[in-house]
Amino acid sequence: MLVKRQWGSELDPEALARANRAVDLDAEEADCPACGAKFKPPVRRCPDCGLRFG
Ligand SMILES: [Zn+2]
Repeated sequence: MLVKRQWGSELDPEALARANRAVDLDAEEADCPACGAKFKPPVRRCPDCGLRFG
């Protein structure tokens, strides 16, 4: 149990948040990870290739 606790303490919440955010919905402009098309959040679907986010 002590080992698991140490593991948890090494997990930086901010780093986890960044890792979980494939598409930065807070940015003024984001680009589709599939086709690279640029669009403005909160668009949830790529206007170019139709890839869905979130
Ligand atoms: Zn796309």
